[in-house]
Amino acid sequence: MQDIRIELTQNPTHLPEDESTLGFGKRFSDHMFVMDYTVEKGWFDPRIVPYAPISLYPSTMCFHYGQTTFEGLKAYRTEKNEILLFRPQQNFKRLNISDDRLCIPKLDEEFCLEALKKLIQIDEKFVPHSKGTSLYIRPFIIATEPQLGANSSTQYKFIIITSPSGVYYSSGLNPVKIYVEDNYVRAVRGGMGMAKTGGNYAVSLKSQVNAHNNDYSQVLWLDGVERKYIEEVGAMNIFFVIGDEVVTPEINGSILDGITRKSMVELLKKEGKKVSERRISIQEVEDAYENGELKEVFGTGTAAVISPVGVLKYKDKVMTINDNKIGEISKHLYDTLTGIQRGEIEDKFGWTVKVY
Ligand SMILES: *Cc1c(COP(=O)(O)O)cnc(C)c1O
Repeated sequence: MQDIRIELTQNPTHLPEDESTLGFGKRFSDHMFVMDYTVEKGWFDPRIVPYAPISLYPSTMCFHYGQTTFEGLKAYRTEKNEILLFRPQQNFKRLNISDDRLCIPKLDEEFCLEALKKLIQIDEKFVPHSKGTSLYIRPFIIATEPQLGANSSTQYKFIIITSPSGVYYSSGLNPVKIYVEDNYVRAVRGGMGMAKTGGNYAVSLKSQVNAHNNDYSQVLWLDGVERKYIEEVGAMNIFFVIGDEVVTPEINGSILDGITRKSMVELLKKEGKKVSERRISIQEVEDAYENGELKEVFGTGTAAVISPVGVLKYKDKVMTINDNKIGEISKHLYDTLTGIQRGEIEDKFGWTVKVY
């Protein structure tokens, strides 16, 4: 494994006294991990350096052609003052899957995890202490060759930045209002919907803005061809409790293979619940709603863990779910997963990785 060069900051900063002011993704720890790639050298010069602007030519390819990928995960401080990561190997594995789709060279997953642990050890004081807070971790790759030919870049930068983040739900787990998009689409099979890449977010903004203007907080995407089958929320995967079955759309090539989603499915299976990864149409959801079988709807993702859906709007129909309150299964899954992540519930799955 390559040695990581370390250059510490001359201007150390600190977390605010009042951690409730942190918000999400607004401030950053003192250091970042950086590594470069060229065709001749492969990935080289891994280093931990002060968090600072990076200098790039205006011709740098990532500004023009969107050849970028990213990941998102969290580190949690436990009551025993340990620091835990949640399934970080899965994030680096998925980064390589996204990279493959976007012609970005593969990373050594084990080395990435070692680099991340080292970075967190150096910036340990930025992992907040209060309940519900965490250190959000953003690994990403950008194409850095300074030229305008529309090819795959021959140079890249891999960077990990970290951001101390406050309680995601400052007012508790309140259900969100979601709007089913029947005009625009996010991804099609064979496209890059299965990759974590900036373009999937850019393509979502217009619907997101429309949703906000109509007092909805997010958009639920339907499949890109027939606009019949449910895909995901765009930064979250989606689950429906219909009767005694928990259903989430199957991994089909156009949705992201979420690690929270995967963990929920594994948890539910272990508890002997009926859980299906299958195709589900918006019509089936409407029918279940009409029959009184639609018990709960919730989104899953690293940032919120679980986001209960209280209102789902499709065309002219507004469906209020579980009286606009968090459901029993959603609450149970939230408590269990966050309990494991924070080292409060025994981790029978071997999901957590100790930084120290
Ligand atoms: C990151 C992301 C998710 C959630 O994945 P997790 O691994 O659970 O955080 C879902 N959908 C999209 C499009 C995403 O980018």
